[in-house]
Amino acid sequence: MALKINTIHPGTPSISNSLTDWYTENYRLLPWRETNDPYKVWLSEIILQQTRVNQGLPYYEAFVSRFSDVESFANADLDEILKLWQGLGYYSRARNMHTCANTIINEYDQQFPTNYKELLKLKGVGKYTAAAIASICFDEAVPVVDGNVYRVFSRLFGIDDDISDAKTFKVFFEVGQQLIDSSRPGTFNQSVMELGALVCTPKNPDCINCPVAEFCHARAHGTQSNFPVKTKKVKVKQRSLQYYFFCDDQNVLVKQRGNDDIWKGLYEFYLVDSFKENIDTEHIKESEQVYEMKHILTHQRLEISFFAKKLSSVDLAIIQKDLGLSPVKIEEIRSLAVSKPIESFLNEWDFNYFT
Ligand code: SF4
Repeated sequence: MALKINTIHPGTPSISNSLTDWYTENYRLLPWRETNDPYKVWLSEIILQQTRVNQGLPYYEAFVSRFSDVESFANADLDEILKLWQGLGYYSRARNMHTCANTIINEYDQQFPTNYKELLKLKGVGKYTAAAIASICFDEAVPVVDGNVYRVFSRLFGIDDDISDAKTFKVFFEVGQQLIDSSRPGTFNQSVMELGALVCTPKNPDCINCPVAEFCHARAHGTQSNFPVKTKKVKVKQRSLQYYFFCDDQNVLVKQRGNDDIWKGLYEFYLVDSFKENIDTEHIKESEQVYEMKHILTHQRLEISFFAKKLSSVDLAIIQKDLGLSPVKIEEIRSLAVSKPIESFLNEWDFNYFT
């Protein structure tokens, strides 16, 4: 039952006011909320797309203190950005940010575009981020739509369109357009997000303390857990990865990943991957399994094993050449940008294991 636009709810202005008033009183004081600098809003919005506020905050602070503006971000080495990003996952977002920052420097005279339509042209800036920047920094009345918004609006108005269907975005965007307070669009957008984060949570929404409870369809019918409606299941594939930590006294062999798979451009050890054609090599024989873990990505369930083998310098040089690897000083391995599983391994690995 999609809502008929223009008949959304007789209480529309009251809903908007209730949300923004509630937000003004209750919002969490976070560094990106004390600014309307589009660089900082852009940074925070992209970091928070994949992480909770508490986890994202130290990343945001690290980026802002290392790169105070879009120009220093654009001039940075991609490797340094990936290293700072390490642990957040979805590394393509960090790479897109670097491209985006360079576009702003080279094609937009070092200034972020000031409207939704133009912001959407930037690499890695989708509808959500463009709407957040346009409304918060430039007062454009364009609504954000993301998981929080789907949940709040679907419950509030009883919208049962399937949110895994791409067409549903338009339904929620139009509801947002009707509700948004054009005198303070940034505050309105943030109020819906904050309500979704603090009150209208996925489980056990706090309806008693909700500023729009009196208007809420789901609360009136006791159907909060039915919303939002999502039917499509993500197909998850099993994948097995075997990493080989080849080292001598001083060096370990690594390789930088390519651009056609997960963890683009990050460093790793020699890898045997169940998704790939692997070189049939003798070098992995007599390696010792030292660590194993499971790691879940959106579409893949990874079973990861780590093997280690200590060699003479001469043998290490042979493996390096045969398998197309590069040596890195053992004490420098932690300075490379690596995936979360490799980081976990390095945290666990006893670097004196072979001594
Ligand atoms: Fe969400 Fe409950 Fe508020 Fe409705 S009343 S919007 S279900 S928290």
